[in-house]
Amino acid sequence: RRDRAGTFLARPALTKAGTAVRVQVNIADPSDVDGIDIATCDGVGLMRTEFLFGKTLPDEETQYRCYRKVLEWAGEKPVTIRTVDAGGDKPVPGFTVEESNPFLGLRGIRLSLARPEVFRVQIRALLRAAIHGSLKVMFPMIAVVEEYRQAAVMFAEERAALDVRGIPHKMPPLGIMVEVPSVAIMPEAFTEAAFFSIGSNDLAQYVMAAARDNATVAHLNSVRHPAVLRLIGSVMAFGRERGIPVSLCGDAGGDPASIPSLLEAGLRDLSVAPAQLAMAKAAIADVSI
Ligand code: PEP
Ligand code: MG
Repeated sequence: RRDRAGTFLARPALTKAGTAVRVQVNIADPSDVDGIDIATCDGVGLMRTEFLFGKTLPDEETQYRCYRKVLEWAGEKPVTIRTVDAGGDKPVPGFTVEESNPFLGLRGIRLSLARPEVFRVQIRALLRAAIHGSLKVMFPMIAVVEEYRQAAVMFAEERAALDVRGIPHKMPPLGIMVEVPSVAIMPEAFTEAAFFSIGSNDLAQYVMAAARDNATVAHLNSVRHPAVLRLIGSVMAFGRERGIPVSLCGDAGGDPASIPSLLEAGLRDLSVAPAQLAMAKAAIADVSI
């Protein structure tokens, strides 16, 4: 399959029946794009920014340069950058807190909202970088719409402040990750968001109550469990009905064993690890949808 996959890399992804599927890449460090030919993908569906927050909290200039590099690499193609998803399995010294149950604690947008002085630095860097390409921004671990609203207000405030200072910037579309079951069950509460991106890694772990980092329960943590697929299918149907774009950026999107079920559930927009790009396109070509 891997040999065959190589021949698919250069072409747009199509199913056997000719249905187009957008395939973007997931990246973390900006150097990840160095080995990728932009012609082989439809942009960046998920740029994780946790890497930046490794040892010390990154300043605005450092973040701005990282985001700008990826946007310039992508040119016209969209780049979706996710605000920092620290906490859970991704502790950041000096930022995250000690918790007995970190996956259910102060992680993702919860932590960003609790530490606005850190979050606002990232917001300013994103607003400034947005002029260099087609940026979209999304928030991780959204559970209630108030979190989206608070973050959107902070974007508007920082934008106004940049305006006053005469610093070039642009407001990107703001979307949310669908990875907490409360969102997948009631997407109608989140129609203010410009787009949805399904985080199947966390969605599966929270729906199945099976930690993503625990091998002894890995058999339970599957995006192909009918309960998870039904939820994904209902989010897709809602997005179609209301004209909200819905994509998926969890690891399942690059897994040939899961791709048929995801397309069946209605997905036409996947974001995968760069190493999975060719395999994902080959697997899509095997589906008869
Ligand atoms: C996910 O949860 O599916 C996702 C894409 O985000 P992360 O793996 O970074 O939590
Ligand atoms: Mg996640």
